[in-house]
Amino acid sequence: MRALVADDDTASRLLLQRMLTKWGYDVVTASEGEEAWNILTGDNSPDLAVLDWMMPGLDGVEVCRRIRALDLSSPPYLILLTSRGDKQDIATGLESGASDYVQKPFDHDELRARLLVGRRFAELNSKLLETQRELQRQALTDPLTHIMNRRAILGRLTEELARAPRQGLPLSIGVMDIDHFKLVNDRYGHAGGDSVLQTVVERSLRALRAYDALGRIGGEEFLIVMPGVGARDASIVLERIRHSIRQTIIELQSAEITVTVSIGGAVNGGETPEELLHLADEALYRAKGEGRDRVVMAPRKESEAEMMMQASQAAAPFES
Ligand code: GH3
Ligand code: MG
Ligand code: MG
Repeated sequence: MRALVADDDTASRLLLQRMLTKWGYDVVTASEGEEAWNILTGDNSPDLAVLDWMMPGLDGVEVCRRIRALDLSSPPYLILLTSRGDKQDIATGLESGASDYVQKPFDHDELRARLLVGRRFAELNSKLLETQRELQRQALTDPLTHIMNRRAILGRLTEELARAPRQGLPLSIGVMDIDHFKLVNDRYGHAGGDSVLQTVVERSLRALRAYDALGRIGGEEFLIVMPGVGARDASIVLERIRHSIRQTIIELQSAEITVTVSIGGAVNGGETPEELLHLADEALYRAKGEGRDRVVMAPRKESEAEMMMQASQAAAPFES
């Protein structure tokens, strides 16, 4: 575990450095507060710090105060070293944000034990953070297919829709639904259905680019978000997915089958996420009605620029 020793007194700093190294810490040193602050807020910052109270420039208490003000998710464990012994001083040190204090001249066993407490604190905190990250990941992931769940993909759609006009880029979406999926379940059981869902996801991901997003918004319904893809390319990408899925032979336990999907596409024309989804849903409904296994794009509100271009082309049809 990395530990910082900050003390302006060279002899004291070297002694601490030697002891902590002997106790198994990976030690970095600083001879003044500013340097300690830079190390604690830099890359690969130490989990533990032993800070002398009295240092030129920033003193140990001020370093503690500033570190606490950052409100870090994994703050370092800060031990103040002080020759001041009165209760008021100790209270000031702890209130400023120190985790603990050790009085100078310090007892070696006591310092070692207090560092051990800090070490446990840092380890516990990192486990908690890891658990929290895992829970966050689970809350946004579909357990069967490991892609984004409804909440996550709708969040992504909202973000991308806000970003698109800022970057002056188009955005398209597709709502994809497996055709006659109920029949798959009826014939091959729920496990067979699950395999089909997994294959459909795997194929779709392969047909998409890295910045596209795929999420499961319902039982056998998926949302595809394609930033940077406009009217010209949306149906090409969605057709590629549809083809790729229909050509895939899915090996189930009792049979080899194929499935098809229907996709409703919509291109961003300044709608809210709900409106855009609704447009794609209506297009999907039409794709189902027209016989399934197809992509239908939602009719588009033409943008002003496009209407002007068409008008100028109509006025001067032979100009290039
Ligand atoms: P359509 O072509 O009109 O979309 O017909 P469909 O049969 O695909 O649509 P319908 O909505 O009638 O049926 C969807 C089925 O999806 C019903 C439901 O049991 C099944 N389903 C939903 N979630 C899961 C799942 O996680 N696993 C499996 N195996 N089946 C699921
Ligand atoms: Mg279906
Ligand atoms: Mg459905």
